[in-house]
Amino acid sequence: MRVVSGIQTTGNLHLGNYLGAIRQWVAMQDALEENGGECLFFLADLHALTGNVSPQELANSTIEMAATLMASGIDDRAILFNQSRVPAHAELCWILQGTARMGWLNRMTQWKDKAGKNREGASVGLFTYPVLQAADVLVYKATHVPVGEDQKQHLELARDVATKFNTDFEVDLFPLPEPLISKAAPRIMSLRDGSAKMSKSDPSDMSRINLIDDNDTIAAKIRKSKSDADLLPDNFDGLAERPEAKNLVTIYAALAERTPQSVVEEFAGQGFGAFKPALADLAVSVLAPVRDRLTQLLDDRAAVGAQLARGAERANALAAPTLKAAQQAVGLQV
Ligand code: ATP
Ligand code: MG
Repeated sequence: MRVVSGIQTTGNLHLGNYLGAIRQWVAMQDALEENGGECLFFLADLHALTGNVSPQELANSTIEMAATLMASGIDDRAILFNQSRVPAHAELCWILQGTARMGWLNRMTQWKDKAGKNREGASVGLFTYPVLQAADVLVYKATHVPVGEDQKQHLELARDVATKFNTDFEVDLFPLPEPLISKAAPRIMSLRDGSAKMSKSDPSDMSRINLIDDNDTIAAKIRKSKSDADLLPDNFDGLAERPEAKNLVTIYAALAERTPQSVVEEFAGQGFGAFKPALADLAVSVLAPVRDRLTQLLDDRAAVGAQLARGAERANALAAPTLKAAQQAVGLQV
């Protein structure tokens, strides 16, 4: 089993990113180590170029994202690297652009959404983005790709590209990657509004716990979070109409790696005056070690660079034979 996943480079990550995404990647690394297989995680810096990102922003967010992943437990059991440091992604992408059809890309809903009405003004890269994604996974002959709902169509396209390439050039080069649907990741809501997602674009810093927050800030944000005056029921379904209460219980359960039902059973009959301090203690105990490692790594960028360089070297070695086979298949003299 070989899993390949690209990660958008963003800085200022928060609890929602941690529980909803990063921790799932760490779990994947751990599971693959146990079951045999490889896990490649790349920072999608080439994909970032298709949006409007400033050079400074791109450089900073790439290093912050890498440091955050490392602080959260991604180590050399996985292969963590910058997409741009493995030129085979871009080289194979160019070859596959001869295979992919305009009509296929025109049907991509992400392209339609992101380009909006201004198609003439959209970057060409935004249009061909899914072909680079196909190259990202095919260059490693990935067997599985973790996908959210919004990326299913792009994985389908990668399979179409692989099939057409194999057929056109009469080779058996690319296996068809399968989607990997991880067990439902929790969706964490804003601490100020139980109906809005916790997000880095929320203007209120009190709405989220940043992974870089110190212990007092974490505790204060939980203490001041919106809740209600009712007691906790003994059944999680009893919180259906109480979004803020439901969110705090969901956060507790995710941090403790327990079911929300077991959490309400423990706190049944108690109010938020009792629940919030328990949640604050738990959040600090889980997040403080991550933050401390993150702070260290942000001060020691050489360590981050070193893991990325090791990752790139391993990724280059895995990608090279596939790229060469693709070049030979199309008649390039290599
Ligand atoms: P933005 O507001 O710019 O969209 P964001 O805070 O939503 O930022 P993303 O960079 O869009 O963060 O998401 C990174 C990853 O974190 C994605 O896998 C996304 O599904 C996950 N994620 C983001 N917010 C949450 C959340 N509140 N709960 C669970 N998962 C989340
Ligand atoms: Mg988002």
